[in-house]
Amino acid sequence: MTQQECIPLPKPLDQLTAQEIERKAAIGKIMTYTLQSLTNTYVNKGFEWLLPVALSQSTDPLWPDPGASIEKRIEVDIYGKPVRTTASMIVHKLVGCSTVYEKLFIVSPNIRIEKSERAKTGKHIYEFTQLDFEIQHATSKDVFALVEEAICTLIKGLKADRKAELAILGRSDLKVPKAPFKILDRADLEAKYGADWEAAMIKEITEPVWITNIPREFYDFEDFATGRWDNYDLFMPQYGEVLSGARREYEYSKIYEKMEREQVRKENYSIILKMAKDGRLKPTAGAGIGMERIVGYITGVSHIGECQPFPRVPGNVQEL
Ligand code: ATP
Ligand code: ASP
Ligand code: MG
Repeated sequence: MTQQECIPLPKPLDQLTAQEIERKAAIGKIMTYTLQSLTNTYVNKGFEWLLPVALSQSTDPLWPDPGASIEKRIEVDIYGKPVRTTASMIVHKLVGCSTVYEKLFIVSPNIRIEKSERAKTGKHIYEFTQLDFEIQHATSKDVFALVEEAICTLIKGLKADRKAELAILGRSDLKVPKAPFKILDRADLEAKYGADWEAAMIKEITEPVWITNIPREFYDFEDFATGRWDNYDLFMPQYGEVLSGARREYEYSKIYEKMEREQVRKENYSIILKMAKDGRLKPTAGAGIGMERIVGYITGVSHIGECQPFPRVPGNVQEL
């Protein structure tokens, strides 16, 4: 059996031993601290905190992201209209940020029915939460600086205020990262390590790194002249991706062309298309931090489902 196949899956609350309850409680305290610290950073910088939605006609197409692996999409009819469960609130962010809320964030539940084999990655769950934010007229650099401040403040705070919990989890050695984080280009990494650059790079880095220029969904900014994408992922050392984001497309002709190219169903994105056509879609940039991923990194759990009170492990449906 490979190491990945051996990952112990998180247990439901009612089956935990006394020692496991102590660990679970420590993870809970770190999740609470993380939510408080990250949301404080955004609120203190003047962001509006929006409530999430669960059902909409339009949600993230998750296509064509080569990393996405969705077994099924959930679509139901309500009031005679088809709606989908939220895969991410990217569309809502773009519309909200272009109209009323110049700086916004949402603690947003995302449903992605990942393929069952993804239980083994230890990094995928089928319901997770993003701290998803968007800023009008921002650049990638603005986003990097904001996220670096948010994460360094969080880890510094945890080391000062949650020593006992980090000790229970064997994470007293957690390091406060050094900002600014290095920025690497996906194309260079591919040239150096080949197609499996992610796994190789994660093992080598000792500080968080930004990876830019990743071909993916229509809403991330692509320079048609150079083929470069102005987007980014944040990777933590010995761990992996905890955030994805981008500067966004806002010009009608580019969005239309990309939707055609990727055969995205335009009828699901008519508000974005109409706003872009009318010049009302603003240039924005943003990202989403996976809450279970970042807490998984901090706590060092073998499966991020351990960071959920009611684990959502791909392929495993529980009573709660
Ligand atoms: P991955 O490549 O790791 O499968 P992704 O790139 O497909 O993830 P994104 O669409 O970028 O995921 O989602 C934004 C963020 O949400 C990710 O950076 C990650 O932190 C988190 N995330 C995405 N999918 C999951 C999942 N199935 N379980 C937990 N967190 C997730
Ligand atoms: N949250 C991501 C972003 O802001 C989108 C996603 O979840 O796929 O780009
Ligand atoms: Mg991603």
